[in-house]
Order: sequence, then structure tokens, then C-alpha cells
Amino acid sequence: MVVSVRTSSTLSLDASTWGAGRVIGVRTSSTLSLDASTWLDYSKGVRYLGVPLFLSRNKSKDFAFVKEKLEARTNGWKSKSLSWMGRATLIKSVAQASPVYTMSTCKLSKKLCNELDGVVRRFWWSPKKLSNKCYTPMAWKDLCLPFEQGGLGFRSYESFNETMIAKLAWWVLSGIEGAKSLLARGACKLVGSGDSILVWNEPWIPRLPDFKPVPKASLDIIPCLTVAQLMNEAKSQWNQNMLSSLFDQDTILAIQNIPRWRVNQQDRWIWLKTYTGEFSVKSAFREACQVDQGIEVNAVMKKIWQTQLHQRLKMLLWRIAAGVLPTSDSLIRFLPNLEISCPFCNVCGESVIHLFWECSLARAIWFGLSGICTDHFQPACGVDLVEVIVFPCVDLVDAFGCGFFYSQRGLNS
Ligand SMILES: [Zn+2]
Repeated sequence: MVVSVRTSSTLSLDASTWGAGRVIGVRTSSTLSLDASTWLDYSKGVRYLGVPLFLSRNKSKDFAFVKEKLEARTNGWKSKSLSWMGRATLIKSVAQASPVYTMSTCKLSKKLCNELDGVVRRFWWSPKKLSNKCYTPMAWKDLCLPFEQGGLGFRSYESFNETMIAKLAWWVLSGIEGAKSLLARGACKLVGSGDSILVWNEPWIPRLPDFKPVPKASLDIIPCLTVAQLMNEAKSQWNQNMLSSLFDQDTILAIQNIPRWRVNQQDRWIWLKTYTGEFSVKSAFREACQVDQGIEVNAVMKKIWQTQLHQRLKMLLWRIAAGVLPTSDSLIRFLPNLEISCPFCNVCGESVIHLFWECSLARAIWFGLSGICTDHFQPACGVDLVEVIVFPCVDLVDAFGCGFFYSQRGLNS
């Protein structure tokens, strides 16, 4: 992954140490290079909305600032003479509420959560004391119970963190629910060990519709059957007897053609709409558009954009194929008095086919440039005409013609 930083200079580096990455850009005016370790030094302490942007292996250290802030707060309150009620209010509305953003986006370590509880606990029981030891006549977990259960409604940091992460997960799940039908069109499990895949309920056979097998007629299905149970003991091959007892021949063939990952690896999700199996927005967007409109791939239209022509010419070809070129024959519907004869020959009406194929001028150009005799083919519509260009065919070249070779390149030049 390449990270570039631009300020009054541009720093760029290859940070292979970061797996799947984030790209950061900062602008300046000259260029220098950094190695990954230097960059990692830079990345330390970089925060976004108060939360570290890059996490190290030591999460307690990364989030130590939460404890430091909390200690600073409670130490500030030590000088004040606060009542028990005043302390309870400060704990609930300030101490336990201030790290809410961090806690709703990151899962803190259990150790850190306990330490945070410790800071608040000490402030609660003995706010003036500096030492760690204090008299605690009631367990903290009991103080964290709601009023009606005899507690004071304090929050344990760990439970609060868990709750906030659950809220985040809820948003994600709601989002997944909305995108489920789109995901189902491309998401499939890649069989590794097969332990985590339910044969009848999960997608795991890429060649089948829905990627799920259909049981043989009159078969009593076992809902919890896993894909691992369809393999031999070493998991190196499928258990043929098992397969033939459950599925029809087509399904068995599809199962045998599944690309296996590694036998001892865990099963994982792949996205079947890209070659790499990785999800991409582009592929998903295409999938969403295609299926929503039920439009099949048009080979000619697709090929237009893959040719080596200039972009401007590609657009012309697209306009011809799509039938949106403003030739007289189409404009006459809106302008009844329009002169419709071809401006080049003044003989026939002006249409796409005439202009680009039948007109004497067009015929001369085709023959002169590529040796194509237009009599050999009669296009019926704009798409046919474009097909001649994007899918060149030697049959059109006049056997006696003195023209050049006919190829896309020849046309292009
Ligand atoms: Zn003409």
C-alpha cells in the first residue's frame, strides 16, 4: 500500500506492514521518501475524532489516554468538597459519559475497563485520598445495579463498552438486512474445512443458482448437516456415496468443481463477482444495476468501450448503436417540414444506415480505406452497423478489392 503525505513536501512510502490499508493524504510541495518504520513513528498518536487512527498490538497502551483523562478529571475534583450526591452526579454525567465516543467505536481491553472502574470507585469512596487503597463497604458491581435493585445506577465500563459496540453492530446488521438481496447475488462461502457451512442453508456451490443445493425429492433433510460431513475423514476428497444419496447428478458435478481453498483452513466468504473474490463497490454496483433493470449484456455495446478508438469516436459509435443520432429520418417526427434528403448525394433520405453505409460517399470511403464492399452486407439498424466496426469480419472485404487489410487498427488509422 502506498501512503502519501503532502505538506511543504510529499512523503511517500510503501507500508507493507499494514495489511489492508487506509490511505492518507496530506499536501505540501516537494517530495521525499520514508521507510515504513519511520512512517509508523509518524502514525503514533494520530487521532481522528479523539480516537487513535492506527492501532498497535498493545490496545491498552493505545487507549491509555482514556484513563489518563479520567484520572485528570477526578483529581481535579479532589480539591472540592463534594457531597455523596454531588459525587454520584459527577460520576454519572461526566466521568462515565465522557469516553462515550471512544467506547462506542472501539472495544477496550478488559484490563483497561477494570482500571477505569478503579479510578471512579476510588473517587466515589474516598475522593480526597491520593493512595490507591480505600475502604469499600459495598462491591462495585452492586453499586452498578439500578436504583430499584438497590444500586446507584453506575455503569461498569466493560458492560457500557459492550453495549455501545452492540449498538454499532445493530446499525451494521440493519444495513446488512437492507443489502441482503444484493449480497446474496454474489456472496458465497469458499469451502476450507467445511465445518462452519450448513449444507442446506448457506451458499457454498458457486455454479448453482443461489449457490445452494436442492435436496433429492422425498429426502428427509438434516438441517444441521455440515459440508465437512460430506468429505472423507482426511477431508481430502468428497464422500461419493454421501453425495449421491443427497443430491442429483448436476449438483454433484457442481460440488466436485468447487475450487477448494486449503483443507485445514477455515471456511471464508468470497465475492463471486470479482476475479479475486474480494468485494468491490464497482462490481456490486454493476450487479445492482443489471439485476434491477433485468437488462442482459449487449456484446456490441460492451465492445464499443473496449476498442482502441479515440473516446470521441467511441461516443459516436454508441450514439449510432443507441439510435440517438439526430438524422433527418428521426427528426421528421418533430419537424414535419424538414428536408430529409441526404446532404451528400441528395438522392435518398438521410438515415444512419444511409449516411454511414449506403450513401455513395460512404461506400467510396469504406472501399477506399479497407477494401470493404458494402454490397456484401445490409445492416438493419445502427447496432448492425457498429458491429461491423467493433467485430471486424473478413467476409466483407471484396475478394478483388485492392483495399488494405481490414482490422480495427486499419480502421482506426
Ligand atoms: Zn447519401
